[in-house]
Amino acid sequence: MDNRADLALVAHDGKKDDLIAWVENRIDRLRPLSLIATGTTGARIHAATGLEVGRLLSGPLGGDAQLGAMISEGRLKNLIFFIDPLSALPHDVDVKSLLRLAILYDVRLAVNSKSADAVLAALAAE
Ligand code: PGA
Repeated sequence: MDNRADLALVAHDGKKDDLIAWVENRIDRLRPLSLIATGTTGARIHAATGLEVGRLLSGPLGGDAQLGAMISEGRLKNLIFFIDPLSALPHDVDVKSLLRLAILYDVRLAVNSKSADAVLAALAAE
């Protein structure tokens, strides 16, 4: 796996179907990008679409922290993170840490379909 990625994709369990639907509808624009994801999100995307997605650890097992490290080291500048606003999460501290680092390092950050479209449009315009 390359140690950089154009775009990271993460979805909490309650939002994974939404993210997969978002990916399926934009697959041609996503295919040329180097993608990375937390473990389960990446596996689900690959199974549903065949898209090549680098996989980190599952979010609750350190995947969010790995993404935070990539951001801190300048290896990731775009993050689509479908957060479930209706569920409590055991790894909430990791989620907060990832969001804090994304803000700190001025990462393009999306948390739902509409903002994800804005991130993808900005990436495509680079
Ligand atoms: P997962 O992690 O893709 O391994 O489910 C996502 C998360 O909960 O941060």
